[in-house]
Amino acid sequence: MTAQLIDGKAIAAKVRAELKDDVAAMIARVGRPPGIAVVRVGDDPASKVYVTSKEKTALELGFGSWHHHLEATVTQAELMALVRRLNADPAVDGILVQLPLPRHLDANAVLEAIDPAKDVDGFHALNAGLLFQGRPRLVACTPAGVMRMLEEIGFDPAGRNCVVVGRSNIVGRPMGLLLLNASATVTICHSKSDVAAEVRRADLVVAAVGVPKLITGDFIKPGAVVIDVGMNRTPEGKLVGDVDFEPARERASFITPVPGGVGPMTIAMLMSNTVTAAKARTS
Ligand code: NAP
Repeated sequence: MTAQLIDGKAIAAKVRAELKDDVAAMIARVGRPPGIAVVRVGDDPASKVYVTSKEKTALELGFGSWHHHLEATVTQAELMALVRRLNADPAVDGILVQLPLPRHLDANAVLEAIDPAKDVDGFHALNAGLLFQGRPRLVACTPAGVMRMLEEIGFDPAGRNCVVVGRSNIVGRPMGLLLLNASATVTICHSKSDVAAEVRRADLVVAAVGVPKLITGDFIKPGAVVIDVGMNRTPEGKLVGDVDFEPARERASFITPVPGGVGPMTIAMLMSNTVTAAKARTS
């Protein structure tokens, strides 16, 4: 079997096209588009690329978009003051503080200071807690994007063995909870797990680790769906996932490429969350 590719770029384009109608409807209803403020601290090159891409997408969709770039030497108090100003700004529906922050800053304190109604990254404890309780509001973008991809290929997680590799707060844990909420039987693996044994039973594998080729082709149950969240740079500068793509592709039914798989979905879901937040704040 050679797996069908899941085209993240095409699905993300579909999500963005749907959002354009929401933007037009909001302008007609409240006289302004949804607004997103992105905060970047310091000069991390990857963060600059992500933020530029987020801003570009927001502008393409006709959102209000504000970029606050602070010096790496900014104090916790100054950053918290900016978050409070954005919380109070009625034109701002979504606030995103790009991670990682420089080491002297307490990222958790900053994320907790964001108004949960504007927490379009879904990282605030309130939004994480609502997802935990099975009544999600604003959900972390990457796992939300994976769920949309599964919907697009017609994979219903209910009753299926779904294995998530990785337990970070931004990908693995919310991914496991979204699948559980969709009635999957969920296993979440981490660095102490027997990953091979768990993945071999999986109807769906979501790899979110950050280790190139950790998931080898022989781990994949024939016919399984394979979603590769990993984004790793090889010494030659190539972008690769956590799954050994070619051999896995020979066993899976569907598989995401890297690049062009989950990556484009993350920004599309950020925009979707901003529209969700804007609707909730203005209705
Ligand atoms: P993270 O915070 O570093 O978490 C990695 C997780 O993988 C941890 O739970 C860790 O286990 C687990 N792990 C590490 N080595 C392992 C091993 N040998 N076997 C099993 N589990 C292992 O990473 P993250 O932020 O979740 O990101 C994961 C990957 O996704 C990265 O490549 C990142 O670049 C990528 N990513 C992509 C997108 C996108 O838009 N496509 C978005 C976010 C992240 P412990 O908890 O036991 O340490």
